[in-house]
Amino acid sequence: MARILTGIQSSGRPHLGNILGAIVPAIELSRNPENESFFFIADLHSLVSIKDGKLRHEYARAIAATWLAFGFDFEKNVFWRQSRIQEHTELAWYLNCFTPFPMLANATSFKEKSEKLADVNAGLFTYPVLQAADILLYNANIIPVGKDQKQHLEMTKDIATRFNLLAGEEMLTLPEPQIDERIMTIPGVDGQKMSKSYHNYIDIFVPENELKKAIKKIVSDSTPLEEPKDPETDITFKLYSLVASESEVAAMRQNYLNGGFGYGHAKQALLECMLEKFAEPRRIFNHYMENEQELEGILVAGETKARAIAQETIGKVRKVLGYSS
Ligand code: ATP
Ligand code: MG
Repeated sequence: MARILTGIQSSGRPHLGNILGAIVPAIELSRNPENESFFFIADLHSLVSIKDGKLRHEYARAIAATWLAFGFDFEKNVFWRQSRIQEHTELAWYLNCFTPFPMLANATSFKEKSEKLADVNAGLFTYPVLQAADILLYNANIIPVGKDQKQHLEMTKDIATRFNLLAGEEMLTLPEPQIDERIMTIPGVDGQKMSKSYHNYIDIFVPENELKKAIKKIVSDSTPLEEPKDPETDITFKLYSLVASESEVAAMRQNYLNGGFGYGHAKQALLECMLEKFAEPRRIFNHYMENEQELEGILVAGETKARAIAQETIGKVRKVLGYSS
């Protein structure tokens, strides 16, 4: 039996990149009866970028509602908020002391974010250590993530190996990333990686007129309407090909190559395709956003299950470190 674990930060509303890069593939894996799935809301990680508590609470709700909107079975699996299980922060501190400073300093994601973000705090720097704690606390084997997380997973393995050496046994399970090669890093409306913190994302749950506005913002080159266009480099086409069926994508490719088909037409097709494909998730998402108590009940039940496992791991770790009586 494989234990699958993945988390989404509550640093913004979940976007198409999170959904196609992490949520949908993770839910597919969770449908295999051989697997046990652990999905959580990384609301401690989000403190790195979001200081407004009300906003974070809202985002955490939206992320929970998104998992449910895409069919996550919360009864069979484990579903929780990271902040409600104190063992995450405790293990993160222990692991900090097993993490070489240069490994964090050389992390690609840290370098990229520290150049772009105004607030470069120590939380951003030690982010991969808290992530390692999230994974190792639950002895997860498989971590379905987007390509941007590959290096962080390597760090988790490195940190766990160092701790296990001290423990004298494989106390912390070494996880493997599962990266769906078909799902590339999904671009945002500006062509960079779609990210909550870059504000370049498409939120599929907003009302139709807002979704239309977001799609309008997708960058394109200035090829005139009559001329053929290159589907391989165009962002609208890329996003369309991730959402539409194979035959629809083939027809769209032909439209691009033929010319006489403008980027405005492509964007309208993308909008219609999203509204159709995501009609049911949009309905379920709104249901949970409007019924806060129901959503809270689901999370609290999940947290009881998560806590029991986390406490077991932390008990063993404390013993190794001489913190237990
Ligand atoms: P932030 O900007 O705050 O880092 P994010 O948008 O990158 O937010 P995360 O919460 O860091 O989202 O990532 C959650 C999951 O979504 C991870 O598994 C990550 O690999 C995946 N993911 C995030 N952005 C993309 C993307 N553009 N394409 C594919 N997968 C993505
Ligand atoms: Mg990220």
